[in-house]
Amino acid sequence: MNYLNKKSVKDIDIDNKKVLVRCDFNVPIDENGNIANTKRIDESLETIQYLIRHNAKIILCSHLGRPKGECNMNFSLAPVAKYLSKTLGKEVKLAEDVVGESAKNLSSKLNPGDVMLIENVRFHHEEEKNDPEFSKKLASLAQIYVNDAFGTAHRAHASTAGVAEYLPAVCGFLIKKELTVMGNAIDEPKKPLVVILGGSKVSDKIGVIYNLIDKVDTLIIGGGMAYTFMKALGYSIGTSICEQDKINLAKDIMVKVKEKDVKFLIPVDIKVGLEYKPDTESKIVESDSIPEGWMGMDIGPRTQEIFSEALKGSGTIIWQGPVGVFEWEEFAKGTLAVAKAVAESGAISIIGGGDSASAVEKLGFADRMTHISTGGGASLKFLEGAILPGIAALDDK
Ligand code: ADP
Ligand code: MG
Repeated sequence: MNYLNKKSVKDIDIDNKKVLVRCDFNVPIDENGNIANTKRIDESLETIQYLIRHNAKIILCSHLGRPKGECNMNFSLAPVAKYLSKTLGKEVKLAEDVVGESAKNLSSKLNPGDVMLIENVRFHHEEEKNDPEFSKKLASLAQIYVNDAFGTAHRAHASTAGVAEYLPAVCGFLIKKELTVMGNAIDEPKKPLVVILGGSKVSDKIGVIYNLIDKVDTLIIGGGMAYTFMKALGYSIGTSICEQDKINLAKDIMVKVKEKDVKFLIPVDIKVGLEYKPDTESKIVESDSIPEGWMGMDIGPRTQEIFSEALKGSGTIIWQGPVGVFEWEEFAKGTLAVAKAVAESGAISIIGGGDSASAVEKLGFADRMTHISTGGGASLKFLEGAILPGIAALDDK
């Protein structure tokens, strides 16, 4: 599938038309019912504002949390409607239901440039089942469907894929941007291409390794997944996390990178801790001899230098997965060093993965990255070369 061949809002006449827009408003809500981080809503404003300027009648929809197919007001989109009203400078009415009388009534009264929101699509269990009848009901509210929810594009749900069967279906600017930046980075990367993988599990990142192995110049492995590789090399890894059933796979990957002449880097030194907790006793050790009873929790200072050096002069960097337990200050130094080196490299830098994105934000490097994907799971699937149902369902140019 050619992702870049999908129609966008710019390829379709929306003047005076009712447009159903699937956004990713799945924002964290604090104990007082306030939105703790508005990033996902802010990222969707470009498309909404474009639709307003072009006189569409706009019906927004999204999921929020996991209401498990029931109408549970703890998961209402009311805080989102309030924030949108304030940000757009016009009232965004919230329907009391998803596809019921309230949604129908409000949507039938829209004037060009008006914006409304229907309730959490996951109030219906048919949403996640991609139920055709429910998709039809959603579609019946509008004349055009726009998908701009990159974060759920890897799921075939009624509001992300099913509804596209019944309406002209195009993507919004956020999805377009995600596809263009990440698509270019893997199809025609500015060389050299460096891929940094971390996070807790090898199993999460196998697909990405195999999909990019023919394109990558340097592959850097850090984080919890590195210990499975070290174990495969016969190192002592103490109590570090390791996927026993992936050791052979790690060996296979190391054979492949050699065959393909990919520069392959794993940590040479490790910050280990006695226990998996923030204030545990810690020390730096050689990566091939982690003492019995100690657990690898971050890359050591020499590894930080080697990784940073490898990032210098790169053309494109794709980073998915923190190289240590960055949530705890004592074990965040490795991830900080990598973030700094990525920022200073001058390369096109793409951060995929929810935890990597929050690490980069928390450490203060967000505005120095070319692109921080809004979809953790979706960006992983994209980098694996998998088909994203929410994109596949859209009309081709
Ligand atoms: P992303 O969401 O960016 O793809 P992952 O979800 O794969 O990243 O992994 C992130 C998690 O990996 C973080 O919570 C981090 O604490 C954990 N992690 C990183 N290094 C280690 C390690 N050495 N041991 C245990 N967990 C680790
Ligand atoms: Mg994660």
